Amino acid sequence: MESSRNQIINNKLLDEKGVTLVIKREDEIHPYISGNKYRKLKYNLEEAKKQGLKNLVSFGGAYSNHISALSYAGKKYGFETLGIIRGDELGDDLEKTLAQNPTLRFAHENGMKFKFVSREAYREKDNPDFKKALQSELGEFYWIPEGGTNDLAIKGCEEILTDNDKKFDFICVAVGTGGTISGIINKASDQQTVLGFPSLKGEFLEAIIKEKTMPGKQWKLIHAYHFGGYAKINKNLISFINDFYQQTAIPLDPVYTGKMMFGIMDLVQKDFFNRNSSILMVHTGGLQGVEGMNQRLLKKKLPLLDV
Ligand SMILES: *Cc1c(COP(=O)(O)O)cnc(C)c1O
Repeated sequence: MESSRNQIINNKLLDEKGVTLVIKREDEIHPYISGNKYRKLKYNLEEAKKQGLKNLVSFGGAYSNHISALSYAGKKYGFETLGIIRGDELGDDLEKTLAQNPTLRFAHENGMKFKFVSREAYREKDNPDFKKALQSELGEFYWIPEGGTNDLAIKGCEEILTDNDKKFDFICVAVGTGGTISGIINKASDQQTVLGFPSLKGEFLEAIIKEKTMPGKQWKLIHAYHFGGYAKINKNLISFINDFYQQTAIPLDPVYTGKMMFGIMDLVQKDFFNRNSSILMVHTGGLQGVEGMNQRLLKKKLPLLDV
């Protein structure tokens, strides 16, 4: 079982508040199947192989870390991959889309096929009829939900924490679909508190996580740091990520880990954590998204991420 290294962060604020912050570098676990996406795919790929299925189908937005990771995993482990991508306009001129979008270009180079669907159709993706229609079109395939989250993904994410990590009071992790935090909650000890930082708006995640995790665990979602919603970003966040990189040489991604680290530092500042508490922040990767984000920032004439 693979484990990533823990790296301690030193800065004035942490010293002043007497808080220990350590980053678990899951971003380093694989260059292309990064961070939690590796954990989430691992047992799903084994299961697809066991079932004798050669085709993997999954879903994502045009800059999805999951789509990027899946395409590479498919190439490496001998699966055909199909990505169902949100935004039918992207399919109008595939050449142009690939020229402009580094995530989809990478996936395409790994042999992934795409099916671009409208936002309305994409919303129906968990409807059994959608799956049936796809099955009659494509034949048998192994289905991986959006963001890669299912029970096997959670099982994989239970391997992120090691016994050595039981010494931390808090474990912090970014939240999208809630799969990663569910695995972490299941593996955390009853004395530890898991804090989730959703990167999107909405209170629906609590119920999903509750259903996927063991009772009696201490966890909480902190909704104050989504910066307006999924993939929304502002100048403050950009300069925070750039400063953090300058100070630590640790790159954060703008969609998940950057927002979480901003939140952690803000909470430290506000004395959310008692003196002498220790925090393990799980760096779930996502750095492939930086290039695409910078293209969008450039268009909006905002400062760029420099990580
Ligand atoms: C996908 C992703 C997440 C969210 O994981 P979930 O299991 O969907 O909650 C967090 N961080 C990064 C970098 C990701 O790519």
